[in-house]
Amino acid sequence: MNSKSINGKTVSIGGQAFKIIVKDKLDQDNWGQTIPGESRILLKGTLDEFPFIETFWHELIHCIFYNIGRRKEARDEGFCDTLGRAIWCLFKDNPWLFDLTKGKATRAKKNRS
Ligand SMILES: [Zn+2]
Repeated sequence: MNSKSINGKTVSIGGQAFKIIVKDKLDQDNWGQTIPGESRILLKGTLDEFPFIETFWHELIHCIFYNIGRRKEARDEGFCDTLGRAIWCLFKDNPWLFDLTKGKATRAKKNRS
């Protein structure tokens, strides 16, 4: 993934559209920053692919927990690191999960009443 390719995209989290902004340098030499009040996710675009994606997932976890009102978890950097990496690896190692969430998995549809 080219980090610049997601610059300007939005990601919807619980109905809130967060704009992704990729910059070469962030304040305090951060790799990422979430500004929930301004619906923005900032990412450092000069990172290598692995830390860039890991940072993106970390910021997504911040957004999710801000969105559901769990401020304590949203501010916990270690928690966001761990959960972000776990979910990223879950989807990376099981790409069929994306299809399932899009409703393309036939078995999931058949089992619904
Ligand atoms: Zn963080």
